[in-house]
Amino acid sequence: MTSQFTRREFIRTAAAGSSALAWLGACQGPATAADGAVQTENPFTLATMPRVDVHTHIGNTWEVLDQVIELRQSLKEQSQADLAMCFSLGRAEPPDMAELRRRYGGRIQFCISDYDIQKGKPCRFSPQDLADWQKRGVVGFKFYPGWQRGIQIDQAIYEPIFDKMEEIGMVAASPHVTNPCGTFGRRTEWFSEPVEFWRQQRAWENVLKKHPRLVVVNAHMLWLCYSDEQLDCLRYMLQTYPNLNVDLATTPVFLHAVARDNLRDFMIAHADRILFGTDMASSWFVPVLDKRLPNIRDKAPQYQRYFDLLETDKELPSGIKDEHKLHGLALPQEVLEKIYFRNAMRIYPHVAEALAELGYFGKKVSS
Ligand SMILES: [Zn+2]
Repeated sequence: MTSQFTRREFIRTAAAGSSALAWLGACQGPATAADGAVQTENPFTLATMPRVDVHTHIGNTWEVLDQVIELRQSLKEQSQADLAMCFSLGRAEPPDMAELRRRYGGRIQFCISDYDIQKGKPCRFSPQDLADWQKRGVVGFKFYPGWQRGIQIDQAIYEPIFDKMEEIGMVAASPHVTNPCGTFGRRTEWFSEPVEFWRQQRAWENVLKKHPRLVVVNAHMLWLCYSDEQLDCLRYMLQTYPNLNVDLATTPVFLHAVARDNLRDFMIAHADRILFGTDMASSWFVPVLDKRLPNIRDKAPQYQRYFDLLETDKELPSGIKDEHKLHGLALPQEVLEKIYFRNAMRIYPHVAEALAELGYFGKKVSS
């Protein structure tokens, strides 16, 4: 079904009478308690809600993927939080997809990726390749237009790719556009040229304008998160392009530059469009802690930082070297549910089905 429709179209189409809508509704409706009584209250707590990390770089070896499962266990013990699913969108090719499902029951999903698109070369995948990978079960296509001067993501050679993605409903999974560029006195080493930064932002906007059916989850809040003014621009982008969404990967190290109330207001107002992502297994997840805790199985404290930012009003260390302070946002539970899993269920293929099969909606969750 997902080879022909975007997730949103699928849900709409399913409304015509397929049992799929009832199934999806069951995923989002009240749960049935062990004694058979229907619970009318929200069935999830912070400890039980599934958390889907849509942006990691965990690689493709079974050894490292096993570590992700170990990490899930230590998060349950140390943080009382359930990291239900991770997407791998690094350079690594997807492993054998049937074996992946057999081993992890959907807890690890893969994207295909092209990290060399920034050199102005044609995409490494043909439109037909994208359709073939979609059929094999990847959740999306990650690409990296890069950030150096002169990048033109809106050039004609990429049009057939975006056309095909629209046609088959393939999600643009965390494309990374430009790099953080602050205001005067706070330029970054990655992108110190604001005029070029904004030109590349506009080039990406051209793509969204030309491809209104392209479903996008831009990485890193589209790097419009390093000043209050940039956040206003992200509001404009989300309001203008209804198929645009953003993930949160790495953004906590820059969000200290945004007023806490402004950021909280933004997260609540756009809760349907923000997805949990971390950059886990890159050195940008939580840079200071990553140096101390490089192995995936040990990264529970890094996740705890993200959880504290979203769920509490604690003062947190932030910045590349933890040189700033950041205040937690204490977001309401319904906002957290959207960010942690409901948006991922709606936007990507396979997520809703896998979470349901894992028992998050009605059956006891397997440990
Ligand atoms: Zn990343």
